[in-house]
Amino acid sequence: MSLANGRHYLAIPGPSVMPDRVLQAMHRPAPNIYTGELVDLTASLVPDLKAIARTRHHVAMYIANGHGVWEAALANTLSRGDRILILGTGRFCLGWGEMAAAMGVDCQIIDFGQRSDIDMARVAEALAADTDHRIKAVMAVQVDTSTSVKNDIAALRATLDAAGHPALLFSDNIACLACDEFHMDDWGVDVMVTGSQKGLMTPPGMGFVFFNDKADRARETANLVTSYWDWRPRANPEEYYRYFNGTAPTHHLYGLRTALDMILKEEGLEAVWHRHAVLARAVWAALEVWGQAGPVRPNIADRAKRSHAVTTVNFGNGNGQRLRDWMTANAGVTLGIPLGEIAGPNGRKEDFLRIGHMGHVNAHMVLGVLASLQAGMAALQIPHGPTGLEAAVNVIAEG
Ligand SMILES: *Cc1c(COP(=O)(O)O)cnc(C)c1O
Repeated sequence: MSLANGRHYLAIPGPSVMPDRVLQAMHRPAPNIYTGELVDLTASLVPDLKAIARTRHHVAMYIANGHGVWEAALANTLSRGDRILILGTGRFCLGWGEMAAAMGVDCQIIDFGQRSDIDMARVAEALAADTDHRIKAVMAVQVDTSTSVKNDIAALRATLDAAGHPALLFSDNIACLACDEFHMDDWGVDVMVTGSQKGLMTPPGMGFVFFNDKADRARETANLVTSYWDWRPRANPEEYYRYFNGTAPTHHLYGLRTALDMILKEEGLEAVWHRHAVLARAVWAALEVWGQAGPVRPNIADRAKRSHAVTTVNFGNGNGQRLRDWMTANAGVTLGIPLGEIAGPNGRKEDFLRIGHMGHVNAHMVLGVLASLQAGMAALQIPHGPTGLEAAVNVIAEG
């Protein structure tokens, strides 16, 4: 007997849950890739992707995961030997830097650790020290999916402006686009990358690079750009095959069309942000009450610095794996593994799990995860404040 039988819920921070309608939209024979519906459908995605990024500028689409668009963004703007500033707040921005270093880019790294967001004072210092403006780009993640920290991207732009520094501002929004609020143009982001499989509720396999004219001017001199990754023909295709530099990801495009309709036309982007905010607060409310009488502790202490898309949490060392195994075996919910080494106050590696609450997720799904976690803690005798679930329910009731 297992109580896990029934519809399984993969509650990891991407790939996220896909709406049945997205899957159904993809369930079709191969379409014509030369004329007709697919050509029009592809063009229709462009304004909607820009609407979600809140930009009037350009988007290039790729058949690639997040790592692919990381490389695309670097290749179109940088040359071998250029310096960039990496603002590490977890595994992902550091990973982007490792990729850049492997491409021959000189990476100056400020690592803010795994528990806090970017400290703007330290960025200001680094920019002020760069008197000959060798730093060509400043790289941040809005949400680092390993630590679940949310960085203040608008404040980062203000820091660059206050320093009078001309570097491009890059933001990795792979985890959080269409989950956490984001305004590419108003926040002065020059290059933003995202993927299809998290907030955009579509299978992994498509990536997007948004860029403005300042970033495109950097493309003039970038010597890392190669024919395949070049964003120009993709953003401004003279012929259909140029969108993807070859065969289009036909079925993804149908799925994405449906997902964008759901986000923009049916629910509305602001309502999507609000839903993520309330669901995240429900998760935090439960964790905080559980933690009053036990080891449960969200990785990011300050609520204002937590993502609405994912929560990284410690249930007590040794308990992360036990709880994840219990959840899969007994509740039909799979939670995310820890990523990167997050050290505790004593410097020892801590045991985290990650709860994904991004994309096609609603109140009953989040409450189900939380109730199952409370059952798991009871079954595994992990001490916890007894009214965590009630606290989450109250958040949902208030809406
Ligand atoms: C998921 C993720 C990535 C990596 O995306 P892949 O599709 O796995 O290559 C990069 N950055 C962030 C912030 C992510 O959440």
